[in-house]
Amino acid sequence: MTRIDDLPVRDELRGKSPYGAPQLDVPVRLNTNENPYPLPEALVERIAERVRDAARNLNRYPDRDAVELRTRLAEYLTKTTGHEVGLAHVWAANGSNEVIQQLLQTFGGPGRTAIGFEPSYSMHTLIARGTGTGWISGPRNDDFTIDVAAAERAIAEHRPDVVFVTTPNNPTGNAVPRESVIALYEAAQAAKPSIVVVDEAYAEFSHGDSLLPLLAGRPHLVVSRTMSKAFGAAGLRLGYLAADPAVVDAVQLVRLPYHLSAVTQATALAALEHTDTLLGYVEQLKSERDRLVVELRALGYDVTESDANFVQFGRFDDAHAAWRRILDRGVLVRDNGVPGWLRVTAGTPEENDAFLDAARELKKEQN
Ligand code: PMP
Repeated sequence: MTRIDDLPVRDELRGKSPYGAPQLDVPVRLNTNENPYPLPEALVERIAERVRDAARNLNRYPDRDAVELRTRLAEYLTKTTGHEVGLAHVWAANGSNEVIQQLLQTFGGPGRTAIGFEPSYSMHTLIARGTGTGWISGPRNDDFTIDVAAAERAIAEHRPDVVFVTTPNNPTGNAVPRESVIALYEAAQAAKPSIVVVDEAYAEFSHGDSLLPLLAGRPHLVVSRTMSKAFGAAGLRLGYLAADPAVVDAVQLVRLPYHLSAVTQATALAALEHTDTLLGYVEQLKSERDRLVVELRALGYDVTESDANFVQFGRFDDAHAAWRRILDRGVLVRDNGVPGWLRVTAGTPEENDAFLDAARELKKEQN
């Protein structure tokens, strides 16, 4: 049998593991920050209609520049953040993972480096590796906030080409204050200047405002977003960014031609027609997220402040054993490898009750 190591794979991929959140068939799945609400039936009908129309033209390549979709995404951003962006500021791809990959192909790559402040979204590291970009692990405080002075020092020392700031951060849940992002941007410009990617995958769930308005006068800033969480469309694979039009032009140099299928574009356009309903679900999830924080604390857990659709809770001597015990009760949460902590996605009220029951039992066992 041939194994990976028998193949002439690139040295930096040897012995490494792919992204692999378990996809287990259990009653309550709260492990990948998905939206628990299926799309409303009226939207499902609208998707079917739009996809039927698109199917009539599938003999042709799709709109390579996704003009209608980018225009609608720009309108959505303008409406929800108060910062005006247009077609020229917005780019879309298959999930924000592909957006990030395109950014690293454009601004990172062999001989270049990217920095993130960990623990944070593990795919930043993996996509850096996949694109041959060197990875620098920047520091965080014990409470998972970014130590701005230490981060500024790391940026000055390593002079990275790309700086990732995830806010709200995954897996910890906390948002990065606006002033901290401004300070990191300035440090990055003084050091290189580099591209600063603010990953706002969870922005719609935040108590605070989007950082999109920071784009004004900051041509090296990129804000990345996704329809996987707030729009309840993880299966769609649609991510997007907003930035200076020059960044959008630069990314064209690496994007594959016709990367966004006509079916994807049609489905995303249908979903954007139902923004108000979908954002209604976000409000429900925010209050469920806040309930999880309160109830977990009442049970005696430590909980990190959350602005996302998930909550980090602990502490455990053995987080993986605790993960198992919760799974034994039919609830799948996430062990992100942060020592002492686990992460639970806010689900429906019933799913959250099932999780809280399991968490209560676990606490009894531990006492
Ligand atoms: N950024 C962050 C911080 C995330 O947590 C995720 C999904 N877990 C993504 C980006 C990627 O999302 P998608 O590719 O589904 O848009």
